[in-house]
Amino acid sequence: MPAEIISGKELGNELRQEMKKEVDQLKNSGLTPHLTVIIVGDNPASRSYVRGKEKASDTVGISSEVIELPSSVTEEELLGLIDQKNRDASVHGILVQLPLPEQIREENIIVAIDPAKDVDGFHPINIGRMMTGQDALLPCTPYGIITMLKSRNIPIEGKHAVVIGRSNIVGKPVGQLLLAENATVTYCHSKTDKLTDYTKSADILIAAAGRANMINKEHLKEGAVVIDVGINRMEDGSLTGDVDFESAKEIASYITPVPRGVGPMTITMLLKNTIQAAKGLANS
Ligand code: NAD
Repeated sequence: MPAEIISGKELGNELRQEMKKEVDQLKNSGLTPHLTVIIVGDNPASRSYVRGKEKASDTVGISSEVIELPSSVTEEELLGLIDQKNRDASVHGILVQLPLPEQIREENIIVAIDPAKDVDGFHPINIGRMMTGQDALLPCTPYGIITMLKSRNIPIEGKHAVVIGRSNIVGKPVGQLLLAENATVTYCHSKTDKLTDYTKSADILIAAAGRANMINKEHLKEGAVVIDVGINRMEDGSLTGDVDFESAKEIASYITPVPRGVGPMTITMLLKNTIQAAKGLANS
């Protein structure tokens, strides 16, 4: 039986409708969640991501502002702007779109954002809180993946979850969230020997390597749940994931498509984090 497709677009839209109601209620009580997005330079991909975030905020009634800085901006100037937004009580979420030009050290920017406004969930305090099971603003892509699994009541406890990729924003944190749900987690990465030995035993496979179509049905166990995080731009301009969708869906039980899979969930969880931050629930 071919796999069931988990559409991040559909789930994201359902969640956004619920969020809109919540934001309306918050507004009625005098609180308008506000997101500040800072973009440096004119990287077209970054611009397109930022536009998507702005549009999505609008659909749920979150107010947002985009501050554009030239690629020549200094680290000091950017830190100054973050400090100003940290102090501004009307700003609930601050997001600095990555990557940044080379004169700016990303790690210095990430730690400068008030953890209570860190809606990307990248601050080491939020990562530490997540790892120790405390309330935290969670990184959006991993949070979206767990939400997708839960939306279908996919069992996680006791299952073998294999994560391909160990980046700070996707691979590492998604493994931690799966561990917190009592999965047995294996991390694979670019230095992993005999990758298929691991993927073949995965009940849940998270592919987050950024390598187009690297996973197909030969890598999978019958009935595996396959979450494709990869976004790879092909020569013809189309987008494809890390998973060969047509092949994998013959053997998987559930699978996420690319596009319209994890991507829309990432933005949805950003909105959720902004609402959480406005309510002051995380890091309280
Ligand atoms: P990254 O480049 O920081 O990390 C990639 C990881 O994959 C590394 O840890 C590396 O060790 C591992 N890797 C690379 N080649 C491998 C191979 N052949 N075998 C096993 N492991 C390998 O990337 P990232 O920021 O974690 O993003 C990963 C992918 O997910 C990219 O395609 C990115 O565009 C996409 N992404 C999607 C979303 C979304 O919302 N859908 C969000 C973030 C990233």
